[in-house]
Amino acid sequence: MSDIIQLLPDSVANQIAAGEVIQRPASVVKELVENALDAGASEIVIHIKDAGKTLIQITDNGCGMSPTDARMAFERHATSKISSANDLFCIRTMGFRGEALASIAAIADVELKTKRTEDEVGTLIHIIGSEVKTQEPVACSNGTSFSVKNLFFNVPARRKFLKANTTELKHIIYEIQHVALPNPEIKFSFFHNNASLYELPKTNHRKRVIDVFGKNINQSLVTVDEDTSLVNIYGFVGQPKFARKTMGEQFFFANGRYMRHPYFHRAVMQAYEKLLPPDTFPSYFLFMEINPADIDINVHPTKTEIKFENDRAIWQIIHAAVRESLGKHNVVPSIDFDQSGSIEIPVSQKGREDISFPGIQINPDYNPFNENKPVSAGGSSSFKPDRSNVKHWEDLYEGARTEGEEESVQQMGMKTSEDLYAQSAEQFVGKRVLQLKQKYILTPVKSGLMIIDQKRAHERILFERFMEVLKSESVASQQQLFPQTIELNPADTELLKNILSDLLSLGFDIREFGKNTFIINGTPGLLDVSSPEVIVEKLLEEYKNSPVDARLKAKEQVALSLAKASAIEYGTELKPEEIDHIIDDLFACSTPIFSPDGKKIVTIIPTEDIEKSFIK
Ligand code: ADP
Ligand code: MG
Repeated sequence: MSDIIQLLPDSVANQIAAGEVIQRPASVVKELVENALDAGASEIVIHIKDAGKTLIQITDNGCGMSPTDARMAFERHATSKISSANDLFCIRTMGFRGEALASIAAIADVELKTKRTEDEVGTLIHIIGSEVKTQEPVACSNGTSFSVKNLFFNVPARRKFLKANTTELKHIIYEIQHVALPNPEIKFSFFHNNASLYELPKTNHRKRVIDVFGKNINQSLVTVDEDTSLVNIYGFVGQPKFARKTMGEQFFFANGRYMRHPYFHRAVMQAYEKLLPPDTFPSYFLFMEINPADIDINVHPTKTEIKFENDRAIWQIIHAAVRESLGKHNVVPSIDFDQSGSIEIPVSQKGREDISFPGIQINPDYNPFNENKPVSAGGSSSFKPDRSNVKHWEDLYEGARTEGEEESVQQMGMKTSEDLYAQSAEQFVGKRVLQLKQKYILTPVKSGLMIIDQKRAHERILFERFMEVLKSESVASQQQLFPQTIELNPADTELLKNILSDLLSLGFDIREFGKNTFIINGTPGLLDVSSPEVIVEKLLEEYKNSPVDARLKAKEQVALSLAKASAIEYGTELKPEEIDHIIDDLFACSTPIFSPDGKKIVTIIPTEDIEKSFIK
């Protein structure tokens, strides 16, 4: 038999590499913007159409390329940023692998226009699926402009699995935040379908955070600034009282590069220990400067994972620096800060001569075609609510419904049929009810002690009502005496615009009112809303944090987010008659046992169990 191994043609090799580097439109934005940064641009303009599915255009005023370089740039492993393995230990640029352009050109229609200041004319190159269609001189301004169209045209599986525009746009916005935050000296303009989403002028770090996330964030930010021989840490942490129920904005950057770092994340979270109200998350924006020789960026093609040689010491430094900043602003008891200003670094400083060669790290679980893996979409992916139980409970529930009623209380728990709960509901009428820790409602029922989670119960009640409203299309809106305006950051503005029609059908009367501003004239008649703008903000927060692959349809997702945002919070004292209402309304629901997102609302401790605990 003849030999069977052959080298893959470049176009195929590039397409394979593209699977790792370019997962979605946002990856193209990231790579091209990073190239613009590396080219020394002071101004970057990003134009996106249809969440990147139709067009991604990035224009910079950086150094530009010569005609030969412009052509070379699309070759695999072609880079101007490193030339030897040693250079890997002093990387100051965002790119160095020389893969991005080759990958993008393998799976899209790419047009490049570029000109150096010293050249009279520029170069135009048109490449489709790794094939150069034209290369010709062109009159253009200094700098570089890439237009990417028809992304994944030859990778149907990828194209098919692109998510809804809202989701893809969300990922693009995350990528832009990741490059805009650490580079406040660079001006960014970002347009989606010709509407301006970000206009970020040259400024300082603090103002950049405010420009990106809205001016409300300003009051919550406390400065962190710590210089040590190992690492310099600068940035901001949010005061605990501004911590939010859902994921805050949490960002780490190392040498200007966004990174995900669960270990360092814990250092920050521990610094907040005992300061945060339960189930809330603080925001943080921490920029670290570190000797490039002490880190390995080359862990993953997307470079969002970084290995630190002295990660334990840095953990301590981050922890101490954050705690000190919180302390200086009187949010931590001062006793912790007797040694203010002198952070002890619990490591011996190694000499530079014993630097070890960074090993190549392989993540054996990494699968570029697995759409569910955490993507470089910011810290947010790590805090998605767990929905793994959803399918599970539905199965149980379905099973339980078809089974006959079970008299034995021991068999209740998860297997209990809806009817038994309904019976329980009847039996407590007129009996005593009690609220525990302003969180649970306790009431005796025939079979034992029933415990209801008050917030989840209310979510269920509201959700079913909202769904009724959506179905019946007879919407009642309560007009506000004093319409409220609400100013949002560009990402939230986009989100609100997307779900606006669903909110209208739920009874909101919200209209756009200038750039990033909305006016709330009315709220759903079903809700007793004292501050509509807070409800809308909470609603957006809930919606953002709902899993991308939700089993619910978009409308239901909006109803669910609204239910979660407007349900009574834990910690709310309930009057006996309010408790009665909740119990009545809950058991009038079609599915009283589980919250709309599949969490248990009701449990019963059987009398037998109570009796057993008194045996001795
Ligand atoms: P890398 O960034 O890892 O070097 P890329 O494939 O992203 O690899 O880019 C290849 C090369 O093309 C870069 O090294 C750089 O020389 C050149 N290049 C890419 N984009 C630009 C740009 N916007 N301005 C100037 N040169 C660029
Ligand atoms: Mg690059």
